[in-house]
Amino acid sequence: MSNNISFSALGLDESLIQAVHEAGYQNPTLIQAKSIPMALTGRDLMASAQTGTGKTASFTLPILHRLAQMRASKAIRALVLVPTRELAIQVDHSFQTYGKHTAIKTTAVYGGVDIEEQLQVLQEGVDVLVATPGRLVDMINRKHIQLDSLRILVLDEADRMLDLGFHDDIQRIVQHAPAKRQNLLFSATFAKDIKQLAHEFMRHPVKVELENPDSAANTVSQSFYPVDQQDKPEILSYLIHGGRWQKVLVFVRTKKAANKVAELLAEDGINARAIHSDKSQYLRIRTLEDFKDNYFDVLVATDVAARGLDIEQLPLVINYDLPKVPRDYVHRIGRTGRAGQKGRAISLVNPEEKTLLAGIRQLIKKPLEIEPLPYFEDGEVRPAEIDAPVSKTRKRSKPDLKAGKPGIKHRSGNKSHNGSRKPAGTASKKKKRP
Ligand code: AMP
Repeated sequence: MSNNISFSALGLDESLIQAVHEAGYQNPTLIQAKSIPMALTGRDLMASAQTGTGKTASFTLPILHRLAQMRASKAIRALVLVPTRELAIQVDHSFQTYGKHTAIKTTAVYGGVDIEEQLQVLQEGVDVLVATPGRLVDMINRKHIQLDSLRILVLDEADRMLDLGFHDDIQRIVQHAPAKRQNLLFSATFAKDIKQLAHEFMRHPVKVELENPDSAANTVSQSFYPVDQQDKPEILSYLIHGGRWQKVLVFVRTKKAANKVAELLAEDGINARAIHSDKSQYLRIRTLEDFKDNYFDVLVATDVAARGLDIEQLPLVINYDLPKVPRDYVHRIGRTGRAGQKGRAISLVNPEEKTLLAGIRQLIKKPLEIEPLPYFEDGEVRPAEIDAPVSKTRKRSKPDLKAGKPGIKHRSGNKSHNGSRKPAGTASKKKKRP
């Protein structure tokens, strides 16, 4: 995904280039190469950038550059609005990483954690604030936050913020900011509602639109398997065991389903945990860190909780169900194949979900055919031998897949303590938390 332009050619300060290189990045990604020079001019900019393209650095770097050139002050000069807590933490982290050789201070505020601690950090003075709209409105209402000195406003994943109903909160926040400021908007698409939002608060924005050569929809290999709803747990377990997959992100639509699927996988001897917005912020961060550090294999997540998850080298995403909103599909599969790496997405599609698949097809303009469930040999996926969709398997209480699912062949495997099949060697590699 990188191109031949260097970071120096973009006009960025030497201290930022040093930090970027220390982070291991040699060349800017396409969205960075296109957006950074524009953003450095101080003009408004709207960029269509899907997750995984390197979009975060497309605004963090020019913001750090511009702020470093302004007179130092203890007031908030840049504000980044993001849809979820996880993304807030992620974006804050990017500012810390790229700004480590500057004196710019950044912090993040989001709901679900103690507001007092966040206020204390703010009182010490920060240059950049990353915030979810709800928590920020709360702080503004309590007169804990002043945005009078704001020079740059960013709406990150603007499409998602609208999907989550943050339109009015964004408007309220913007009312507290000076009219003269730079606005940057990043969104997976420029749908009508996004254009309307841009019209409301931007001034003649420059548009940066990639032809999506890097988008997850193009770089991630995508498979769709036909499955009856009641068979999904068993098929999911079969795929994970069969492929000997050890770092899998599974998406489900609801919190209840997240808990249930993690439980069912655990019953089958798979080390799985759930993450969703009913879990405490502490638990969510801890679960994510444990997943990144390979303490368990399968993270079952809802769409909201998965926003902002940036897990390096995540090879596989499984959609246990298809999302209702087609845009969410792109965000989901964008969790793998980050920054040009190879990624794989598998979706389990029940007959009712075929209309959802049609919507996704339309959005990403790809044929996306349903194909028969594959079988495995030594953890390798083999194409299925028959065309017939898999249907009507036994009840999941006895997960013995050998019992004859059409087209499924079995690898040999050892048995876990509860009798379910587990490929040799999977459990032994797991780290134990000290
Ligand atoms: P984002 O789209 O901002 O969430 O970034 C996706 C991933 O790309 C993250 O893991 C970044 O750390 C990584 N990344 C950002 N910029 C670059 C770059 N220039 N070269 C390689 N990877 C990058």
